Amino acid sequence: MVKQESLFERAQHVMPGGVNSPVRAFGSVGGTPLFIREGKGCRIKDYEGKEYIDFVSSWGPLILGHAHDEILKILAKTAARGTSFGAPTELEIEMAEKIISMVPSVELVRLVNSGTEATMSAVRLARGYTGKTKIIKFEGCYHGHGDGFLIKAGSGALTLGQPSSPGVPPAVAADTLMAVYNDLNSVQALFDRYHKDIAALIVEPVAGNMGVIPPKQGFLEGLRELCTSNRCVLIFDEVITGFRLAAGGAQQYYSVMPDLTTLGKIIGGGLPVGAYGGKKEIMEQLAPAGPVYQAGTLSGNPLAVAAGLKTLQILSNSHFYKQLSEKSDFFFSEIEHLVNSKNLPLSTTRVASMGCLFFKTGGVNSYSDAVQSDTEMFGRYFHKMLDAGVYLAPSQFEATFISAAHTKYDLENTLNIMEKVLQSLY
Ligand code: PLP
Repeated sequence: MVKQESLFERAQHVMPGGVNSPVRAFGSVGGTPLFIREGKGCRIKDYEGKEYIDFVSSWGPLILGHAHDEILKILAKTAARGTSFGAPTELEIEMAEKIISMVPSVELVRLVNSGTEATMSAVRLARGYTGKTKIIKFEGCYHGHGDGFLIKAGSGALTLGQPSSPGVPPAVAADTLMAVYNDLNSVQALFDRYHKDIAALIVEPVAGNMGVIPPKQGFLEGLRELCTSNRCVLIFDEVITGFRLAAGGAQQYYSVMPDLTTLGKIIGGGLPVGAYGGKKEIMEQLAPAGPVYQAGTLSGNPLAVAAGLKTLQILSNSHFYKQLSEKSDFFFSEIEHLVNSKNLPLSTTRVASMGCLFFKTGGVNSYSDAVQSDTEMFGRYFHKMLDAGVYLAPSQFEATFISAAHTKYDLENTLNIMEKVLQSLY
């Protein structure tokens, strides 16, 4: 049996911090990161053979759970025909047709390899289309690690206390204007001052990288109006919310249409895929149809596309979201009940199958609310849950994801553990 500590020790000799993505390192909760050997359904096992119920779902993509039989089958079949050609395939057309049929505002789509690539490319396209340079983003929203986004970004950047990273040129940072999530006045003020220069406004329609923060009623509609009246491209970053809130993502869930949409995570079914798409008029500016350059050796990779397409086909089953939301409603409303009935000093947030427990009272509507959470208390909660066999994201500022693979039994089991753990903390 391999010890977790020895793996981490070994990893630190060959990888910065021992990991390939910062938030995996347990930096904000302390201790040894979980090295995962295998997973099936909603369960994962570490290298010591300990089993956990997984609520990280690879940070969102695994809405069907680990090692789903149909995904494994299509991967084996596709791989046998070759793993990459760097030439177009029919699978890519099917994938594009599927995305366009599911996501209401998307008329043309480009496949890439990650969410970061999707958001960086969408902003370049918006700049090329409008001829303007500045962008608006919201504090606490994370859009991948592109230079222009690493300013008061959420997720790992928030946890690590590096709201802006060394290496981001000041000139790049100067083109990113910061607004306050759920506060239309803060956006209006930026348009009042810079409206001639603002190419795009990018937003997570449900913030998922400062914990989970739903948009207040009217917020997304207000952004739509402000962007239209200021000739600014509205980008919904649906890397998390796409195919999670509904088949058509947050734009369908809230009935607000962006100009461009960025997608990632679920769209790859656990393999590396991202995408951006939107209005034909804008998308046609992309090379080779238009002058805005963006390319990728492995873009539209057959294996990744096959897994993604199969996932989207399964999600298109008419019962899928109804069943997922019934389970999620049960789970998150039980947590709310627990918090309220025991008068625990916590706040809960949720939308569909994503939710968050904040270690503060009084609710959470913005970044400044989120950062008031007692992260030390979260760390103690996280480790007690882990010891009891529940794997939550190792950061206060991440979502808990329910997947189709969680059974009512798994959720009840988790709720019992959670109740005991929370009682032991207070
Ligand atoms: N956008 C959002 C909303 C995300 O949550 C993430 C990643 O967590 C990204 C973009 C970047 O995606 P990736 O990690 O695939 O580059």
